[in-house]
Amino acid sequence: MREILKCTNCGKEFSTDALYQRCDVCNETLDVVHKIKKQKKLSFNGNNLIEKYRSFMPSFSSIQGLSMGEGNTPLIESRYLSREIGIEQLFFKDESRNPTGSFKDRGTFTGIRRAIQLGIKEVGTASTGNMAASVSAYAARAGIKCHILVSKETPDEKLIPILVYQPNLIKIEGDYGKLYYESLRIGKENGIYFINGDDPYRSEGSKTISFEIIEALYPRIPDYIFVPLSSGGNILSLIKGIEELNQAGLLDKFPTIIGVQAKGCAPIYNAFKEKKMTITKIPNPNTIAHAISNPFPPSGNKLLRKLNHYPGSVIAVDDEQLLKAQKLLASREGVFSQPEGVASLAGAIMMRQQNKITPHDRIVCIITGSGLKVKEVLKGLISNIKCINMADLEKTLLNR
Ligand SMILES: *Cc1c(COP(=O)(O)O)cnc(C)c1O
Ligand SMILES: [Zn+2]
Repeated sequence: MREILKCTNCGKEFSTDALYQRCDVCNETLDVVHKIKKQKKLSFNGNNLIEKYRSFMPSFSSIQGLSMGEGNTPLIESRYLSREIGIEQLFFKDESRNPTGSFKDRGTFTGIRRAIQLGIKEVGTASTGNMAASVSAYAARAGIKCHILVSKETPDEKLIPILVYQPNLIKIEGDYGKLYYESLRIGKENGIYFINGDDPYRSEGSKTISFEIIEALYPRIPDYIFVPLSSGGNILSLIKGIEELNQAGLLDKFPTIIGVQAKGCAPIYNAFKEKKMTITKIPNPNTIAHAISNPFPPSGNKLLRKLNHYPGSVIAVDDEQLLKAQKLLASREGVFSQPEGVASLAGAIMMRQQNKITPHDRIVCIITGSGLKVKEVLKGLISNIKCINMADLEKTLLNR
């Protein structure tokens, strides 16, 4: 059987021969559904994510040279923080090592591959951050046109890591939340593939993070995986990957997945806490964590539905916890994440303090993006740098 696209809400099926991204009946998200064969052992080989995880992938035609080595990131065991925060087995999945510095490259790789397979020559995304940089870079690599839609308020400085790839970047006045749906409509009618956060084929790439985490620790399975949460695309892909490993007969238990939002913009957390099945838009997001502050996440409802069937929950941390976790991860472990990228660690620290996880639980924190692109939040570090005359160098160095 070839794969199909299926609505995650009403179950309507769509052919994979054309560009479908959301259900035309209920407007909810679609999943790629394909048959997973039983496997005897967990062992993967291949030059890129599609080759390596072929048995879990939809049919992609072969395209040479598109890969930039996305994925294959290290699972780093904590040396110092595990003791400080009282978690014996603590691991960081360092997604900052991807070609453009975030996990987005996994899904962009498969998304662009899908676009080329459909014969589409233009792609795009509505994003001002890592997603935009990632899609721009892979479009450049594929030699196809790329449209980046950002809100009018975005500061120019933030656009530099995107503009370097020379996409067609357009600032837009109006409701940024509507832009996602408007871009999908225009794209479908005009052959532009908007590879937004919860595109079904982006998800096929993003889910490989689960295969890597499980493979790295196998046969041990993590008790908890913490992941920063905004639109929900990444966490849902993570769960999809785990469920597919289970269908292949390779798991004997499910890791519990904890999505961590920023308190200043936590629509999924709010709904989850109140046991609602639909999210409500946040009118005024207020957080430094821009990469995880989607006020009306397009996959929010899908995640709420999923958490009825999969072990997991959603929590929220404030900006202070994020900045503290960012500095801890860099100063104790040597890993420089953007503040959004350590929402996972901030969440694990909080749940440990609240005794909701034990010292013996095996914990993986996904570090979603590099700190190198996002420096404005760290201006405070500059306040007390020492400056001395060279004649005083020895004295100063030895004055420990
Ligand atoms: C995009 C992004 C997220 C949020 O992922 P979603 O799929 O939108 O939930 C988290 N952290 C970083 C660094 C990101 O770039
Ligand atoms: Zn539907």
